[in-house]
Amino acid sequence: MNRPWLLLLLLLWQCIGISLAQGLPEYDVSDQKLDLHSMQLRALSDTSGQFDIRQPGAVQRFESESRLVDSAFVLPGYTAVHWFEIRLRNNGSVPVRRFVVIDEVDAERLDLYERDGNDWLQQTSGLVVPISERPTHSLNPAFLVDLQPAESKAVYLRMETPFRLMNFTIRVQASEVFLNGLVEKSWLFFFFFGAALIISLYNFFLYAALRDRIYLYYVLFGVFFLLSVVAYGGYHLLIRDSLKLHYLMQVPIHFSTVFLVLFMRRLLELPRHLPKLDRLAQAIAGLMAALGVAVAIDVSNLYYSLILGMPVALTLLGIALYAWRAALPMAGSFAVGQMFLLGGMTALVGVNVGLLPYNLFTSFSYIIGALLEMLCLALILAHRVRSLELQQKESRALLLKQQSDKAAELSQLIAERTHELQLANAELEKLSYLDSLTGVNNRRFFDQKLTERWHPQYLGMPLALIMCDLDYFKHYNDTYGHQAGDDCIRLVSNVLRSELRKAGDVCSRYGGEEFALILPNTTEAGGIALAERLRQQVLDLAIPHIGTLGRVSVSFGVASCVVGDGTESAELVARADRALYQSKSQGRNRVCGSALDADDDCRVAEYG
Ligand code: GH3
Ligand code: MG
Ligand code: MG
Repeated sequence: MNRPWLLLLLLLWQCIGISLAQGLPEYDVSDQKLDLHSMQLRALSDTSGQFDIRQPGAVQRFESESRLVDSAFVLPGYTAVHWFEIRLRNNGSVPVRRFVVIDEVDAERLDLYERDGNDWLQQTSGLVVPISERPTHSLNPAFLVDLQPAESKAVYLRMETPFRLMNFTIRVQASEVFLNGLVEKSWLFFFFFGAALIISLYNFFLYAALRDRIYLYYVLFGVFFLLSVVAYGGYHLLIRDSLKLHYLMQVPIHFSTVFLVLFMRRLLELPRHLPKLDRLAQAIAGLMAALGVAVAIDVSNLYYSLILGMPVALTLLGIALYAWRAALPMAGSFAVGQMFLLGGMTALVGVNVGLLPYNLFTSFSYIIGALLEMLCLALILAHRVRSLELQQKESRALLLKQQSDKAAELSQLIAERTHELQLANAELEKLSYLDSLTGVNNRRFFDQKLTERWHPQYLGMPLALIMCDLDYFKHYNDTYGHQAGDDCIRLVSNVLRSELRKAGDVCSRYGGEEFALILPNTTEAGGIALAERLRQQVLDLAIPHIGTLGRVSVSFGVASCVVGDGTESAELVARADRALYQSKSQGRNRVCGSALDADDDCRVAEYG
């Protein structure tokens, strides 16, 4: 309701007054279901505040100066005391009691005067009178008028209120209709109250769970709206019947708009997407907050709020529509919500200027519009929760995929590394059984293989062991040097291993320049024959040595046993060693057996 609106309203009010300024109709009130709400009455605005109908000549002055108006209208935009006259008549045959109801809780002081002979009867109601002391104990001011059969009565209503612009209706109702109206209105109020409360609470829980400020803004918008619904119905007066509280209750509606704007800014991400419009929105929020404070200080500032209400709502709708055109997500839904609010406001103005009939629905249009907007915004938030959930699901799925990809990559890498390690281990193990100088097996391998030969599976099998040692080797080293000694050991080892035939045969470096050969399934004779051949081959190498022979030679000791005959591996080694010692002591470059089975030639053929 901006200024042109106000002027239009004033003009309308004037026109109605002038065109109908003839006689005042008298309304029959005998009907037991009477509900008079479209009446004509006389009105007089007393800017001085001095007029009193009870004073001599006042009725005549009222007759001449008042104008005819409709019972649902808007007070003109200036401060004044307003006087109204209603003519009633009981055409029935029984006395009736009727309620003169003012459909507006905000009126500060109302007086009803009726003649009683030469005296005047006066009833007072409005915010200045506690509810319990009003003529009817209702939130809306209402007066009682009794009419005898065939009685005509003129009642005068005096209205004093700090709100300079206010719409209201004067009704005359039978008691049943009046009471039903009260009940209906209460139902409607508590429905809106409950709905706003539930939606606000629901969103409060969402805020508690999600910690997104947008839900908090919504809750505050809802709570302040809820308080303004209470204020609109005057229900706070039931808790504390105070004029001060009533005026304070006009404040929340301003803050409800403040939080609506904050909600919108966050929903549409205005600061990021439309910074200029965001500044406008901020200005509106600031203005509404300032107006709220101004109204809290002096309730007559509500006048400015009433004027600014419509332009503010229109601007917010404009921002939403612009954002919608700019394809900002959820701007469309927000604009629809804003349209509901604006629709409700427009309907209220329509009622005020007489374009729409005054009824329970139209008088609630603003609240209905605001509640529909609340629902719209709640749906937006629900949708937001859903899209957040979907977003989270998507990113969780992406994360999972990334993780499983990583895990697959990792296990692939582990498998590769494990394989490499296994190969390296196998290589190491192989190396750990080899002698680095000669490349034949080492002592460790010899010990292990010899022990294995005592496994039950070899029971009853013959086993031969050859031990050999290079002759006068210390001397060789001393003469040719250690490097030449090493070369010599290598050459001899090549000969020793070259003659091995079977898979189980083992040639190993026993230590220094000593070698040991394990010959499974071989008798001592077989071992001796092989040793003999080896001795000859080493000699054939013809490695020069300043010894007796002029060449490098090797001495051999051969021992054998049958696995399971009671001979232990260590004993077999000791016997072979003894045989070797024998070869040494008999002059070297020869083969000696342990002589236990010297005649047995089971492998002589093979090695012979
Ligand atoms: P014998 O005929 O009684 O065996 O006389 P020998 O001099 O060979 O005596 P012995 O077996 O006790 O001496 C071993 C010598 O072998 C001592 C050392 O100089 C030499 N020798 C042992 N291991 C190596 C080796 O790895 N490399 C070289 N170059 N010489 C070694
Ligand atoms: Mg030796
Ligand atoms: Mg030696």
